Formats: sequence, C-alpha cells, structure tokens
Amino acid sequence: MTAVATATSVKHYSMFIDGEWVDADDRVTYEIVDPATEEVVATVPRGGRSDAERAVRAAREAFDKGPWPRTTAVERAAVLRKVADKIRERAEELAVLETRQMGKTLADSLVDMNDAAHTFDYYAGLAVEQHGQTLEVPGDSLSMVVREPVGVTAGITPWNFPVLMAAWKLAPSLAAGNVMILKPASVSPLTSLEMARIFDDVGLPRGVVQVITGPGGEVGDYLASSPDVDMVAFTGSVEVGKHIMRQGAENVKKVGLELGGKSPNIVFADADFEAAIDGALIGIFAGSGEVCSAGSRLLVQRPIYDRFVGELVSRALAIKVGPGLDESNEMGPLVSRQQLETVERYVKIGVAEGAKLATGGHRLEGPGFFYEPTIFVDVDNSMAVAQEEIFGPVLVVIPFDSEEQAISIANDTIYGLAGAVWTKDVTKAMRVVKALRAGITWVNTYHPTYSEAPWGGYKQSGVGRELGTFGLDEYQEVKQINIDLTDRPLGVYQHGKEKTDGKVVSLHERRPFGRDEVKGAWVRFCQNCN
Ligand code: NAP
Ligand code: MG
Repeated sequence: MTAVATATSVKHYSMFIDGEWVDADDRVTYEIVDPATEEVVATVPRGGRSDAERAVRAAREAFDKGPWPRTTAVERAAVLRKVADKIRERAEELAVLETRQMGKTLADSLVDMNDAAHTFDYYAGLAVEQHGQTLEVPGDSLSMVVREPVGVTAGITPWNFPVLMAAWKLAPSLAAGNVMILKPASVSPLTSLEMARIFDDVGLPRGVVQVITGPGGEVGDYLASSPDVDMVAFTGSVEVGKHIMRQGAENVKKVGLELGGKSPNIVFADADFEAAIDGALIGIFAGSGEVCSAGSRLLVQRPIYDRFVGELVSRALAIKVGPGLDESNEMGPLVSRQQLETVERYVKIGVAEGAKLATGGHRLEGPGFFYEPTIFVDVDNSMAVAQEEIFGPVLVVIPFDSEEQAISIANDTIYGLAGAVWTKDVTKAMRVVKALRAGITWVNTYHPTYSEAPWGGYKQSGVGRELGTFGLDEYQEVKQINIDLTDRPLGVYQHGKEKTDGKVVSLHERRPFGRDEVKGAWVRFCQNCN
C-alpha cells in the first residue's frame, strides 16, 4: 500500500468513526485503483492504530451506555428495513462503484446489491421472531433462557464481495443488538464507506456502526486483539484466519471465520450433460474465480471425460473477458496486480508439476489485470494446483471411475467449504452429498445460496456459520435465569436452625441426591455428583 498525498482530481472518501466522517490521525491516504483500467478511482484514509483505538472506544460507549442494545427488536427491525430500502434505492450507483473498485461484472455487482438488501430484510424479520426459552425444571422454580447481544463486534471483510460480506455481518450483528466496527479489505473499501453513509442516513446512534479503512496488519490486528472487542467475524484467507483466532485467544473472544476452499464439483456420467457443463463453467469462472466457494476442482467420471473436457474447453474459449462495466463482457479482471501475479505463479506451478494446460494460461495484453479462463486437465489431486486455493479463473479437471473414488478425492483436501454433485440418480446424489465433508452442497446446480441458509465451512474452511438462524445465534450470548418461587432460604448453611415449617434439616439430608424436604428439588444442582 503506497501512501500518497490526497489528489484533488479524484474523489476522496473519509472513514466513519464515532458518528463522524474523519481522516486518519496522521492524515495519510492511499489510492483505490480500478483493476479494469488501472486508473485511480478514489483516495481513502490509511487508518492506523490510534484510529482503531478511537473506534473501539466509541463502540464500547455505544454498547455499554448507548440506546441501541436497549431498543426492542421491532425498533431494530425497522432500521434494518430502512437500510435494505436504501441499498435498493442506490443499487445501481453502488453496483457501478463495486465494479470499478474490484472488477466484477456489473450484472454480478447488481446481484450482490440485491442480495445485500435481502439480507437486511431477512434479519429484520428474524430479529422479532427469535425468542428465548422457558425450561421444564422441577420444584418451585422457574428457569428461562434469554438471548443477549455479544457486545462490540468487529467485521473484517475481503475484497471479492465487499457489500455482500459487510451485509452478512452487519445485518445479524445489528439485529441481535450489537454494535459493529467494519474493516473492509484495503483494495476495495469504497462501497463499505457508502454503506456507512447509509447507516448515517437512517439515523443510527453514534458508534453503532463504524467503518474504518487501513491495513489489516494494523487496524484488523488491533480489532482482533483488543480486549474491548467481544467478537470478530472474519472472511478471508486461512492464513489470516488462523492469526485472528490466535489473537482472539488472548481474551477468549468469540471468533467467526469464513475462509477459503478448494471445492469439488463432481459430474457423474449420467448427469444432464448441458446442465453440468454450464454448472462447471459457472462454478469456476463466475466472479473470475475469486469466489471462496468456487468449484475449482472438477471431478468428471471416465465414460464422459473426453467429451466433457472437449466441450468445456471450447465453451471457456468463448467467454468474453473485459471491463465489467461493459455489459457485453462475461468475466471481469482480477482484483489487483498482486492477485494476477498469484494466478500466474500457480499456472507455472501446475505446468511444472505435469498438469496438462488445455486452454488459457495467459494474462491479456493492455491495461487491466485480465486473465484468460484457464483449464488444467488430467490433474492428480495431490498436485499443488489441486490442493491450494488459487482464487482465480483456473480450473483443474480430475478424472474418476467409481462413486467411492469420487468421494475420496473430493474429501482429500484441508478445506471443506462447498461441493456439488451432478447426476440423475437421486439416491446416488444423496449418498455423495452426505459423504461430502463440506458445509455448503449442491445437487445439479452450482452457486445458488440464500440468506435463509447457513453459510460456512468444515475443516480449515472456517468456524461457525453466517446467515440463517445459525448466523444470528453467532451474534448472541444466551443467559439462563433461575428463579426461586418459595421465598425460603436454600438452607445449606443453616445447621440446626428451625425451618419455617418447624422441621430441622440435617446436613446429611441436604447432600446432593438426598431429596431436600424443605426446598424440594434444589439439591439437584449437583446432578452429576455421586
Ligand atoms: P486476507 O488477506 O485474508 O484479507 C481479508 C481481510 O483481512 C482484509 O480486510 C484484510 O485487510 C484483513 N487482514 C489482513 N491481515 C490481517 C491481520 N493480520 N489481522 C486482521 N486482519 C487482517 O484475504 P484476501 O487476500 O483479501 O482475500 C482472499 C481470501 O479470502 C481467499 O483465500 C478466499 O478464500 C477468502 N475468502 C473467503 C470467503 C468465504 O466466505 N469463506 C469469502 C471471500 C474470500 P487488508 O485488505 O488491509 O490486507
Ligand atoms: Mg490480503
């Protein structure tokens, strides 16, 4: 990240801390680059430690003393719906900005805006629907469970779905009554800052939502380690996820991690050929392959392997690559030069380890970080290109013979985010889906997902779930409340004292499992003692 003086010709964004639009304490800014043109789109503050400290103090104040955690769910739901409406109102403008800052096609950006709005609407509904419990307990007592917000939450998001990942964190966090500090990825913070504008517009109390820009290693790291932050929800790489988990361990923070994947897309010989081809292409080339749930390992059953690969390659060659703002283009650039170089490095590795390059393998000439849709065939699952997440438009195709072999290859990975199976045989589809060690699965489709359904991974793909009721649970503490209805002392240390009913209870009688005649079932506090 290069620090530069604020240019006058490009728009400058400020960050949103403690209800104010501010620059970094040290006034340093940096440039946001359009990956399709390499032009500077805007400048933003390069926030640092002191800015993060300020945000955490404001968040603490807003949670500990402010009105937001004390509102009713109905009030919070009304605010979330307003946010959803504002996102819809501004969808086109936000989508253009999303495309300009990170490259995805405008159509994809519009889908993201719609999904983001839906996420706020969904949690507005859930906020008022989710209740505590009353428990069946013995004796003259009542026991209940209430849900409470976790407190100060931090959301650290990646660059591939800036608005959507922010929505997946902000909506459930706010629905539950938390406050949140959002730290967007440094290459694409603009739409997150526009989201802050929306929260400012709908009139949230100060400090409830804050958006701070700056390097993950400084700002993100502070949020993950600060004892005043109660929870960190992170989406990004496994490497940084592990670091955040270690940082969070220092004060036993709640940590939610949505990490990477190398998800298997399994095509059986009896699949609908056309649907499976389309699903294989969408699985890897949607979003230029910069999608954590990408179907980056395509497993194809031997009898259709040659025909499938042949069709796949000719269809990949036809994908129109170019700037996402030109609506005739089907695949945009990679997000940054760094990401482009990562993809180039992996393609070299693949070639060196003997994977057969069937198409692609080059960046496009001219400005912008464009890379050809690329397919390696006859890949062995042990190769680095089959094991490591490339996060670009690079597919590896692996042949298989039996269902058993497909399952074994599919699960032979450190990841467990997603997976799909294509077949017309329902029982086979269900056997394979059940056997997949992954949190998100598809049958005869790839990628559709819903705010209503839990999103997250097995194994090193993450901890916890976003979205659905499960996603709301993550942002809540649960508290049990036990109420005595008798107004009598428990009596443990009342040796020899007269009881209200005139009976003396001996120590012996009060031991666990000795049913106490006066207090009924209280002794069961020690159910497991013997
Ligand atoms: P990344 O380097 O892990 O960054 C993700 C976020 O973490 C960014 O906001 C980043 O800030 C911040 N960060 C970096 N170092 C940090 C630290 N030491 N402490 C706290 N925060 C820190 O990931 P990326 O390279 O931007 O994104 C690509 C990766 O994200 C891929 O591996 C992909 O699989 C994963 N991903 C997963 C999902 C999912 O839902 N599971 C979704 C999208 C992406 P800076 O930008 O300032 O570095
Ligand atoms: Mg990074």
